[in-house]
Amino acid sequence: MSAIPILLYHSVGEECASPYRRWLVSPREFAAHMDVVAERGYRPITVHELALLRRSGQPVPERTCLVTFDDGLQDFTQGALPILVALGFSATLFVVSGLVGETGRWLSGLGEGERPMLDWQELRALHDAGIEIGAHTVGHLELDTLSRARATREIRDSKHMLEDGLDRPVTTFAYPYGYASRVTRRIVEDAGYLAACRVRHALSDEAENLFALSRIIVTSDILPDDLIELMEGPELPVAPATDRIVAIGWRAARRVKALRRTLPRSRQQAVAEEVD
Ligand SMILES: [Zn+2]
Repeated sequence: MSAIPILLYHSVGEECASPYRRWLVSPREFAAHMDVVAERGYRPITVHELALLRRSGQPVPERTCLVTFDDGLQDFTQGALPILVALGFSATLFVVSGLVGETGRWLSGLGEGERPMLDWQELRALHDAGIEIGAHTVGHLELDTLSRARATREIRDSKHMLEDGLDRPVTTFAYPYGYASRVTRRIVEDAGYLAACRVRHALSDEAENLFALSRIIVTSDILPDDLIELMEGPELPVAPATDRIVAIGWRAARRVKALRRTLPRSRQQAVAEEVD
């Protein structure tokens, strides 16, 4: 059974506040990444296409990879889209539905609270260009620190808002900060999504839970050769279960903090830097 690399990008642009720098890849760096992915013979598919393949029981073709982008920031259209189109690559963009046409308010701790988000017209144009639009909650909140009712609204409403705005079905989801508990995975499944991505910095495979797909975090310090090494191993684990205990401990600690009050800014920043 072969591993399925699912790449996770955030911003593709030239400038940002220094605390956000790790999450910004320049268009030239992104083009170099995609060129080497093409040279190695990979053919990217969308998360929706992966879900259909996996659900039909068909084998996922060799050299399949996925290119995903979290958040729905406006720099995608100029920074990433032309490079993807030139190579004939499809991709999935997970959008914070409550901030379409506004700014990345949740990024204020990283100095990018004013970073522009894509608007509805741009999102429709991206869909028409072959980019899958998936959901990433309404307000980019940490789902597993919310009440079940609130988490359900974030997950369901983001699907419906995007479907209304795009006039098309939205079938895939990405957990903000990658946090996917058993409860949130179930809510996502019950909301009618076909698949969901977490972070985890690992390779996916054909046996991995479709509602907890592992992704490789691609940051600005990763050179093209490093990227291929991450995609082809052996550096990264495949659909790991071994980090589960650590993740559960970490989540429990965060829940306690969230109960006391909202996370202090330094902690939010640490969380953002570590996992999303
Ligand atoms: Zn995000």
